[in-house]
Amino acid sequence: MSLPNPRIRRPDVIIIGTGAAGAVMAKELSTQGLRVVAMEMGPFLKTRHFDQDELTAMHPASSSLHEHADIYRHDQPNTYRQSASEQAIEDHGIHMQSTVGGSTLHYTGISWRLHENDFKERSLFGDLDGADVQDWPIDYWDLEHYYEKAEYEVGISGLAGANPFDPPRRRPYPMPPVPRTSSGALADMAAQKLGWHSYPAPLAINSREYGGRPPVMNCGFCESYVCTIGARSSMLVTMIPRALRTGNCEVRADSCVREIVVDEDGRAEGVIYLDKDLREHRLEARAVIVCCNGVHTPRLLLMSKSNLFPDGLANSSGKVGRHLMFNYYQSARGFFEKDLNEYKGVMDSRIIQDVYDPDPDKYGFFGGGVLEPRGDGETISFANLNMPRLRRWGARRKKWIMDNYTRYMVALTSMQSMSQESNTIDLDPDVRDKWGLPVPRVTYNVHPNEHKLGDFFRDRARELLDTAGAHGIVASPNFVPHGDAHLMGTCRMGNDPATSVVNKFNQAHDVDNLFIVDGSSFVTSGKSNPTLTIQALAFRCADYIITQMSRLNIR
Ligand SMILES: Cc1cc2nc3c(=O)[nH]c(=O)nc-3n(C[C@H](O)[C@H](O)[C@H](O)COP(=O)(O)OP(=O)(O)OC[C@H]3O[C@@H](n4cnc5c(N)ncnc54)[C@H](O)[C@@H]3O)c2cc1C
Repeated sequence: MSLPNPRIRRPDVIIIGTGAAGAVMAKELSTQGLRVVAMEMGPFLKTRHFDQDELTAMHPASSSLHEHADIYRHDQPNTYRQSASEQAIEDHGIHMQSTVGGSTLHYTGISWRLHENDFKERSLFGDLDGADVQDWPIDYWDLEHYYEKAEYEVGISGLAGANPFDPPRRRPYPMPPVPRTSSGALADMAAQKLGWHSYPAPLAINSREYGGRPPVMNCGFCESYVCTIGARSSMLVTMIPRALRTGNCEVRADSCVREIVVDEDGRAEGVIYLDKDLREHRLEARAVIVCCNGVHTPRLLLMSKSNLFPDGLANSSGKVGRHLMFNYYQSARGFFEKDLNEYKGVMDSRIIQDVYDPDPDKYGFFGGGVLEPRGDGETISFANLNMPRLRRWGARRKKWIMDNYTRYMVALTSMQSMSQESNTIDLDPDVRDKWGLPVPRVTYNVHPNEHKLGDFFRDRARELLDTAGAHGIVASPNFVPHGDAHLMGTCRMGNDPATSVVNKFNQAHDVDNLFIVDGSSFVTSGKSNPTLTIQALAFRCADYIITQMSRLNIR
């Protein structure tokens, strides 16, 4: 695809990654008049290049069947091991999309704000053995204005005031909630009986025409699919076009940055990137902003070694790649007498946050979580479900599929991950990707507290389904995640350069014209769904960069 803008030879700013964070940065900075080149290792596609085909989207092994098979790369190669003493094996646990728009192209769009307590868990709840829980260097009120900005710019539907546990806000959501699904109606009913609060999920999905985009058509292809009408606010249909319309921004797709280069004073000078044909190019700018997500950001910094930064760029603390967090999750599935038809509509129309941040002394575990009553409508995945006492083939399986596909719902529970220094991203010594670069090696194990959380929330999920009238409830077993879609913590934010990578404005402690803006700067994981916070941080960081550049603190 040809680029919509002429090439910018000497930008003010290079942004690496065009997902949730990078696209916001590109839009904000180009709107303020800075010349921006946004680098993206994946292609620049149009919505029409994607389709709603479960075989190609969800079962990559079969994706060669598809004309655009290579765009369904939501599982970039990585390797995985549980501890540093093990040999990592090839794995595809890290879920991300690698095209212009990043993982917002196929995300579910659940978009709530972190709560006030999320920013100060160490102060409120104390220490946890074996974990490294710290307060953020900012509080909720540092971000409130930017949350509001993100909600209006991204376009979030929801009902302010419906969740009694929500943090305070100054403005309602720009759109009312999307239509309630069957799982939402059952959750409302069951929650009321249990004395809980089920409220409309805040979603980056239009409930009415907004931002020139149409309302949701309830086709059911949300999570893991690209919205074919643009009702969901992927960055491909919101921030990227707005950035390009300024005339100050160029998106350089199919361009993988392999190194951020520094000058003799240790300031970021620019990047070296590889084009589609693996030819190397160099591009220089006044500032470099890394938005490659919680896994690829530390990878890039660790690849950017130099005499001044022998352990990787911005890594004098040794913290780049450490404290990797996902959101631990568990689920239960229940079956009903009547049709729910959860394959239609959005994924989650309701959320329950009654045990969001409970008192550890009372509950016996640290941190909390949320319940997400939902469908997960993929037919092939459903047909393959591991069900007790039911083979995966034969007449009984077929009858079970026919009887149950339209009659089940899932109570997903999403929880906090404990920040542990030993959970890391580093460079795999053996495995390389198609660019010839080392793939990220994930070393990850759960903290025992996560199992306690999991047990508690799995029981709540069963309780919800049971109260809603489900039968044959099956709950997921305890497990250790090999990866996730929520990628956080690997360049954590803090006031102390000895224990953190970026300051409270997402500026690298070691390099004043280098910014790291994505989930990697999270200090704690929250209970789920980090993207609205990632975007609020990006809007805030963009303001900071503009001020610093106008004061000539960044030249
Ligand atoms: C199936 C799924 C469902 C999800 N649902 C939700 C949800 O409901 N709510 C929620 O809050 N979050 C959800 N998420 C997570 C959400 O998508 C991410 O939190 C968010 O997109 C992260 O934004 P980011 O900008 O940090 O990274 P991304 O959006 O992943 O973008 C990073 C970009 O950087 C590019 N890149 C990386 N390295 C390089 C390099 N060296 N050179 C050039 N480009 C590079 C990548 O190709 C990519 O395009 C979901 C994710 C998935 C996969």
